[in-house]
Amino acid sequence: MDATNPFDLTGRVAIVTGGNGGIGLGMARGLAGAGATVVVAGRNAAKSAAAVKAIVDAGGSASAVEVDVADEASCQAMVAAAVRRHGRLDVLVNNAGINIRKQPQEYALAEWNDVLRTNLTSAFACSQAAYPEMKRVGGGKIVNIGSMMSIFGASFTAPYAASKGGIVQMTRALACAWAPDRIQVNAVLPGWIDTELTQGARRQVPGLHDRVLARTPAGRWGEPGDFGGIAVFLASAASDFVTGTAIPVDGGYSVQG
Ligand code: NDP
Repeated sequence: MDATNPFDLTGRVAIVTGGNGGIGLGMARGLAGAGATVVVAGRNAAKSAAAVKAIVDAGGSASAVEVDVADEASCQAMVAAAVRRHGRLDVLVNNAGINIRKQPQEYALAEWNDVLRTNLTSAFACSQAAYPEMKRVGGGKIVNIGSMMSIFGASFTAPYAASKGGIVQMTRALACAWAPDRIQVNAVLPGWIDTELTQGARRQVPGLHDRVLARTPAGRWGEPGDFGGIAVFLASAASDFVTGTAIPVDGGYSVQG
């Protein structure tokens, strides 16, 4: 650790769920660039292997673990694997997420449950699994990924909006509970970011691409690389007195009147 650099993550171990693509990989790259050993956790082993290679080729330290975050036992096994491999866990980024876009009256309850389980219950299960390990090393950082749908609504996204609103409230509750253990818990609310997830949205929702461009003061869609900096800030000593927040990373989308 470089004591003069509050953003230094040398010696820290970070799990990023869904770290094998999109925003998760942007965060994983940022964390590795700041010195962390990153555990890329996803379902698709080939995607995870490619993400690890990209991080290692850039000079970082990373390995992959397979996880289905919708399964509590799998979340526990993911944390156990990271600790077995690297001896500790300092940072957990709960990023894995899905969306199913329909009008509310068209959802099967199983679809509602899938979205809630993958986006919200997973973050709780992974945080619960991480807690004793963070406590054991004297503190830690949990970063939960919300959305503009943590703030706004949209007709085609009832379960997703419920899950992302829940992420913010769960973040606040965990932050209060675990502050005495020196575990800070914060949420990041991405605006509209160009990933596989939103490539699907742009195919399904007519006019979405141009509406986002018109409404975003920065005048562009976000990119996964826009998330490296916020990940390092919230994973490092630089944010030791920051907890329970929900920080938009959205090019100004949420403040445009
Ligand atoms: P991607 O579809 O590119 O990435 C989603 C990631 O989640 C994949 O790496 C995927 O891994 C992983 N994942 C999904 N389900 C599971 C599961 N059951 N178990 C383990 N991993 C899983 O999307 P984004 O990068 O866009 O999304 C990342 C996060 O950011 C999500 O929480 C999303 O809701 C949020 N977000 C995205 C926005 C955007 O504009 N893109 C805006 C606001 C929020 P695998 O392929 O291996 O299954």
